[in-house]
Amino acid sequence: MYDVIVIGGGPAGASAAIYLQRFRLKVLMIMKDLGTLGKTNHIDNYWAFENTVSGQHLVEQGVAQAERLGVTVVEEEVIGIENFEDYVVKTTKNEYQGKTVLIATGQAKPNIKVKGFKEYIGRGVSFCAICDGFIYRNKKIGVIGNAEFMLEELEVLRNFTKDITVFTNGLGLPLHIEEEITEKLVTEPLCEIQGDEVVKKVVTEENEYEVDGLFIAIGTPSSNDFALRIGAFTENNYIVVDENHMTNVPGLFAAGDCIGGLLQVVKAASDGAHAAIAINKYLKTLKTV
Ligand SMILES: Cc1cc2nc3c(=O)[nH]c(=O)nc-3n(C[C@H](O)[C@H](O)[C@H](O)COP(=O)(O)OP(=O)(O)OC[C@H]3O[C@@H](n4cnc5c(N)ncnc54)[C@H](O)[C@@H]3O)c2cc1C
Repeated sequence: MYDVIVIGGGPAGASAAIYLQRFRLKVLMIMKDLGTLGKTNHIDNYWAFENTVSGQHLVEQGVAQAERLGVTVVEEEVIGIENFEDYVVKTTKNEYQGKTVLIATGQAKPNIKVKGFKEYIGRGVSFCAICDGFIYRNKKIGVIGNAEFMLEELEVLRNFTKDITVFTNGLGLPLHIEEEITEKLVTEPLCEIQGDEVVKKVVTEENEYEVDGLFIAIGTPSSNDFALRIGAFTENNYIVVDENHMTNVPGLFAAGDCIGGLLQVVKAASDGAHAAIAINKYLKTLKTV
């Protein structure tokens, strides 16, 4: 059992992990890749580098520093967070238990660019099978996605109906994912989501498919997906936190780009430090109960 599971190894996550480890806590940091920062070659506005530094270098150094101090780091993709008595963080390979969780997964990704998509959010288009699946029991459901996260949503939706169509929106489907799908599979690119008051059909380049509800589970879950599934508030695609970086769900914290504000390295690292201090205090309150 970890004291803290940090999801994300960018400036927010690694900075938090470093502070937490120095509080002598048991810390696990999970990261799927080098994140946003790893994609940029020129950082000129971060303190203490005379010459331009690459984002990749910063991330790698941050992770190495965390590991040197004793943080356990794993390169895995998180596909779900559950909150029972403790937290269970599920990756594509493992499940980890923690007393608290810090989400530091960067800015939420943009949604799909399909005509009608935005119009039907909340009117048949949903981002959370656990939250909304029940509404569509014994109805026609579509799921858009092409990776483990989609399988996770599919598993939940199978409890409510047998009439499910999986749409990959033209994206490739790895063999190990395809093997898990027993439902109707549509791989054509999507053209439009149509309906009246609510969603009625999905139009692809070649066909039309009737649906009563459409669940979006594309690629890797973002900070918003995690928040939604666990009941944490979001606003304008950002996780809402209090002055201690805690969400409305006790023991669930968030830091960095995923909470908005200045979307820069310096602020993400600062968030991580603040969150770590607050988490350390929070863990002490658990011990006294
Ligand atoms: C093109 C570009 C240029 C930029 N230039 C600058 C600049 O010059 N100066 C500056 O200060 N800022 C710059 N930024 C912004 C900066 O990159 C971000 O503000 C900063 O990286 C945010 O840090 P973060 O830790 O919140 O998120 P990120 O750096 O995005 O890290 C997110 C972490 O979460 C992990 N993650 C995400 N989802 C999952 C999952 N499901 N499972 C496991 N791990 C997951 C990722 O692997 C990564 O480790 C730039 C951004 C871009 C896109």
